Amino acid sequence: MNIPFLDLKAATAPMVAELQAAAARVIAGGRYLRGEETAALEREIAALCGVEHCVAVSNGLDALRLVLRAWLELGKLHPGDKVAVQANTYVASVLAITDMGLRPVLCEPDAETMNLSGTGLRQALEHHPDIKAVMPVHLYGTPCWDNEMLHLVTGHHLLVLEDNAQAIAAVAATGGINGTRTTGGLGHAGACSFYPTKNLGALGDAGAVTTGDAELAEAVRALANYGSDRRYHNIYRGYNCRIDELQAAMLRVKLRWLDHETQRRIDIADCYDRHISSPLVTTPAIIAGARQVWHQYVIRVRDNRREAFCAYMRDHGIGTDIHYATPPHRQPCYHEQYGGLTLPVTEQLAREVVSLPVAAPLTTEQAQAIATVINTFGG
Ligand SMILES: *Cc1c(COP(=O)(O)O)cnc(C)c1O
Repeated sequence: MNIPFLDLKAATAPMVAELQAAAARVIAGGRYLRGEETAALEREIAALCGVEHCVAVSNGLDALRLVLRAWLELGKLHPGDKVAVQANTYVASVLAITDMGLRPVLCEPDAETMNLSGTGLRQALEHHPDIKAVMPVHLYGTPCWDNEMLHLVTGHHLLVLEDNAQAIAAVAATGGINGTRTTGGLGHAGACSFYPTKNLGALGDAGAVTTGDAELAEAVRALANYGSDRRYHNIYRGYNCRIDELQAAMLRVKLRWLDHETQRRIDIADCYDRHISSPLVTTPAIIAGARQVWHQYVIRVRDNRREAFCAYMRDHGIGTDIHYATPPHRQPCYHEQYGGLTLPVTEQLAREVVSLPVAAPLTTEQAQAIATVINTFGG
């Protein structure tokens, strides 16, 4: 076998002609920022997430930062306010919080779903009753949302910013604050990433904010364009976080493939779930009633066998990856503030998780063959 963990070139190959045509259109059109492609992408992403507003921006981290900054500007958050987030997330979630002068409350994830649960949020609120916002991260493409979370955020009047970087087009089992179930529309705002390896990836960096709140959308739009609400009139000390017209056009092409590609991921995940039976391996939780979009298919390898497992897979020609070996509180940049925290679930996950190939061009036949290889590990 020779199955790389991810082959972006091969994944993009079926779309090349459409991408080239779209790029040619933008190049010939002469409008490279804030044009028709961006406006159309915003309408399409808003519709996909079931919200009124979308602001396409430079990347996912900026999408998160812009929402938090807008809430600070609108007086909904204040410097130093606490934001709950699961401790096993990718570092960017935490970077957005600390960069805006807010304080992350790093919460233990549920060991099975690897996501923050309502129970986890309740425990965090018991220790920190002054938490003002929560950032549920739909990690690996699994919606981070349940009934208890819904009740807590409404009961405690918490702002909800979904980190939807890994879960575009996922659907939660429980309705969000507005009753809809698609991620990016569950809370007050969502942040998508269109980093090339994400489920909907640009040919470079891009991201988007989704929200039902017109005032927030307007503030984010202004902040992303130097803080100006109209030309040469700056109401905020803003940033330049615009999306390129070219990337918007690439994303609109890829958006037409998203349903098909997501279904492939779901089929491959289902194949792994049915065929992996090694006692050393735990397959990811399947959430009843939800649509998980499998940005990553993350298994856990027990008994300190991860390193041996990855070497064994490599010897069989199968690429794997680890998301993530070092949680944010163990990163050098957070050593001083959070290095002293003990988060046993987060730390155990960091030692055990392994991501298997799940994206196109992988086929279910290959996934089945990978499962067979896994089942003979350690035997
Ligand atoms: C990718 C990612 C981000 C950051 O998105 P970029 O577009 O790379 O800036 C944030 N949070 C999570 C969970 C991510 O996976």
